[in-house]
Amino acid sequence: MSYPVTFITGDGTGPELSDAVQKVLDATGVEFDWDFQTAGVDVYEEEGNPLPERVLDSVKERGLALKAPITTPVGSGFRSINVALRKELDLYACLRPCKAYEGVRTRFPDTDIVIVRENHEDLYAGIEFEQGDEKTDKLRKFIADTEGTELREDIGVTIKAISIYGTERIVREAFKYAQAYGRSKITLAHKANIMKFSDGLFLEVGTRVAEEEFGDSGIEFEERIIDNLCNQLVSRPEEYDVIVLPNLYGDIVSDLGAGLIGGLGLAPGANIGDDYAVFEAVHGSAPKYKGQNKVNPLGLLLSGLMLLHHIEETEAADRLEGAIAEIIREGESVTYDLKPSRDDPSAVGTSEMADAIIEKMDAVTA
Ligand code: NAD
Repeated sequence: MSYPVTFITGDGTGPELSDAVQKVLDATGVEFDWDFQTAGVDVYEEEGNPLPERVLDSVKERGLALKAPITTPVGSGFRSINVALRKELDLYACLRPCKAYEGVRTRFPDTDIVIVRENHEDLYAGIEFEQGDEKTDKLRKFIADTEGTELREDIGVTIKAISIYGTERIVREAFKYAQAYGRSKITLAHKANIMKFSDGLFLEVGTRVAEEEFGDSGIEFEERIIDNLCNQLVSRPEEYDVIVLPNLYGDIVSDLGAGLIGGLGLAPGANIGDDYAVFEAVHGSAPKYKGQNKVNPLGLLLSGLMLLHHIEETEAADRLEGAIAEIIREGESVTYDLKPSRDDPSAVGTSEMADAIIEKMDAVTA
């Protein structure tokens, strides 16, 4: 059986990461029917649209995509393709496993957590009132009339919107993930003590879903205030398992999690919806390293590992993960970021690290 998957090759270091990851995934023995699609800065210059319809059509037809990073220019230019993809395909859950492999430089070698971040709501809903705008003035007056609170004239405002619908489905997704992957505890993070009607709703609805729908699942459910959670994560991350969070906290805690396991080069992710799934590393396009065959392919490759699990190719996934773990543990055929010093001359390139992983997989199979 061959799996049709869209491969969005990205920009910056995206294309070289894509080449490396494609050859490793092809070497697992699982057959992929890749549909390579370009998107991003170069495509914007050539086609006038950084995310042409052909890319979305390809993912919609196949249901699955592996995506290399894409640059979002600061200031002018286009809006984030990453955000656009998540919205267009209704990828409401962002899964980010943070697992410390033996051999990485970390103070927290027992970390093995999965962050489940809500992808659409919260301060990311895109409802903003610009400082000085007429609409912002109307909003100020509305707030003064309804709340009796006089806000300063020189404010800018971003709305934090959290719904019952959005909370129900992200908490369900966290439980479904925990059930599918044998996880035993879910921690819901919030700041309900301060934001009673947004985070408070997230906590209330999440607790209800946990009790009513998963009360007999055998999965423990607990809640933590976000600042306390951050404190505990950088002291005792091994006490956490699956963590479900609203969008902004999820974004921040994902990077914190990447730090716990040895850096951004090692952090994979998946954006999941009811109909589609797009797998991508947490890191960006690292444009300063473009074309240097230098950056770590593991963020994208471990995202490919998540894809293998998603399509239930468990045996291939385990073999790939074993080879990756072994390469990290040996610490020889690894990129600069996994060496004791960043200018270590024994660091290998992106492509060579991929080759070493393939060799390791072959050695296990032989
Ligand atoms: P970045 O993640 O691209 O790079 C920051 C630094 O992290 C790099 O300079 C490098 O030191 C390190 N790093 C990143 N990936 C690495 C890897 N694979 N191996 C080793 N080291 C690695 O973050 P940035 O510079 O803030 O963003 C660059 C561009 O990427 C921006 O336009 C941003 O919007 C975009 N971005 C895209 C995505 C995505 O496509 N999903 C995610 C985040 C950022």
